[in-house]
Amino acid sequence: MNRDFLSIVGELNLAKRVLVVGHIMPDGDDISSVLSATIGLQKLGKEAIAGIDWKIPWYFYEFEETSLIKRYEEVKESGFSPDFVLILDASSPDRIGKFQEFLGNVPSAVIDHHGTNTFFGTFNWVDTKFGSTAQMVLRLNGELGVQYDERLATINLMGIATDTGFFRYTNADEIVFSDATKLVSMGGKPYLISRLFENKRIEQFKLLSTMIEHLRTENDGKIVYSYLSKNDYEKNNCTEDDSGGFVGELRSIQGIELAIFFSEYERGEIHVSFRSRDWFDCSKLAVLLGGGGHPRAAGCTLRGELSVIIEEVIREAKIMYSSQYSSVKS
Ligand code: 5GP
Ligand code: MN
Repeated sequence: MNRDFLSIVGELNLAKRVLVVGHIMPDGDDISSVLSATIGLQKLGKEAIAGIDWKIPWYFYEFEETSLIKRYEEVKESGFSPDFVLILDASSPDRIGKFQEFLGNVPSAVIDHHGTNTFFGTFNWVDTKFGSTAQMVLRLNGELGVQYDERLATINLMGIATDTGFFRYTNADEIVFSDATKLVSMGGKPYLISRLFENKRIEQFKLLSTMIEHLRTENDGKIVYSYLSKNDYEKNNCTEDDSGGFVGELRSIQGIELAIFFSEYERGEIHVSFRSRDWFDCSKLAVLLGGGGHPRAAGCTLRGELSVIIEEVIREAKIMYSSQYSSVKS
């Protein structure tokens, strides 16, 4: 058993007031992990508060428990003074936004499955063998003796399902399926999770069509990219939350290896998502640009004029594509 895992279990057994923190621009795995750990700790009679320094995309409110998650300002105003901080699915301190302020005052633990993790907690249980952080929370809750019910099992399963693209990506391995089986046997309901995706606004289809209009290719169609500007979002009566999954559409194009999606979520602030199909290591490109992630899915945030950022990132992507190609294919 991992030593940090056991230390984290020991610390949480003693803790009374735990702040459970997720990352900015939260995804399904992060929200699932934060909620599962928070609900687990509450079931053990502890005061646990969930915090994410970002607006949660509207479709996650399909799960009513999502409203447990507080913004930084709310946590501050509540006067909550944690004796332990548990950070989930975040690979570096900048990823937790203003919640960084709580680090240093009290011991903290980082539980994460990103290879780009910087081990910024007092305790760090980081293991890339897991397809999702939610599976690590399942183990944590198990060791702490948390009793699962249908709701908790479903919420915990949501992170495994979303981070594996509903069991379609290369990370959908035997451990993923056995953890999913365990959660379904405890009452987890996959059909409730699929509602996250089968619940699209008509405006999102129009936004998708704008993204398709902007589609470009490079390197003989091996690199495909597209973008949405802040204006594109506004014109379609959408926000950046409405383009979740668009980069997956780009990756689904036949013959491509690398898909890149630029999303200008605030004027001059651009989130870049990278996805690859077979061999390109997206996390290396993302780290070069100040971000992080996994080999097949990574991202970063850049500031500047959208067209300039696109040009610069595509230039770097082409250089890295060539150098990785020669080492992988030689
Ligand atoms: P997405 O493209 O869906 O935002 O992110 C894909 C993966 O890359 C996720 O695992 C996410 O946590 C990670 N990621 C995205 N943006 C950043 C970033 O700015 N910094 C770091 N460290 N990781 C990121
Ligand atoms: Mn994750």
